[in-house]
Amino acid sequence: MKRFTDKGTIHIPKNKFRHRRKKSDVSEPVLLTGCYCLNGHSLFDDHIQINEHNAIKLLIENEKGDKGLLALSPVYGEHARVTFDIKIEKGDILNMYCPECKEPLKVYSTCSVCDSEMLTIFLTEEHNYTDCVGVCKKVGCHNSKLVSSRRMLLSAVKNITK
Ligand SMILES: [Zn+2]
Ligand SMILES: [Zn+2]
Repeated sequence: MKRFTDKGTIHIPKNKFRHRRKKSDVSEPVLLTGCYCLNGHSLFDDHIQINEHNAIKLLIENEKGDKGLLALSPVYGEHARVTFDIKIEKGDILNMYCPECKEPLKVYSTCSVCDSEMLTIFLTEEHNYTDCVGVCKKVGCHNSKLVSSRRMLLSAVKNITK
């Protein structure tokens, strides 16, 4: 398999990920165009692509202290992810950091699915908590993909009133 394209970017083949879209579902997947750490560094990486989009790159550390890189799909609800230099397993809890300033991603809320924590990725350089997405720290959790802040808030409200 050809992993590197001529431009030196890492090419992740499309067929690696299943696309399940019902015929009635005409809505296009939402692609994020800006992702930032608390200090305003862009988290997009020009050299790693997932399904032909620049991936979100994060530094990760598991509970054993192993460190590596995680590349996330920048598309809402798409679970595609790739890791480098680290093996992750279902159930692992990952701490995530900005690759540039090593600042840990801030906790947004408790995960409504697994009771772990949702970490914050800001959509603007101004690190505004009303303009962010979350990702669960637990590998394999339903929320370990990009989740909109609106959805995180709705599930938080559900947890309070339940
Ligand atoms: Zn940073
Ligand atoms: Zn979770």
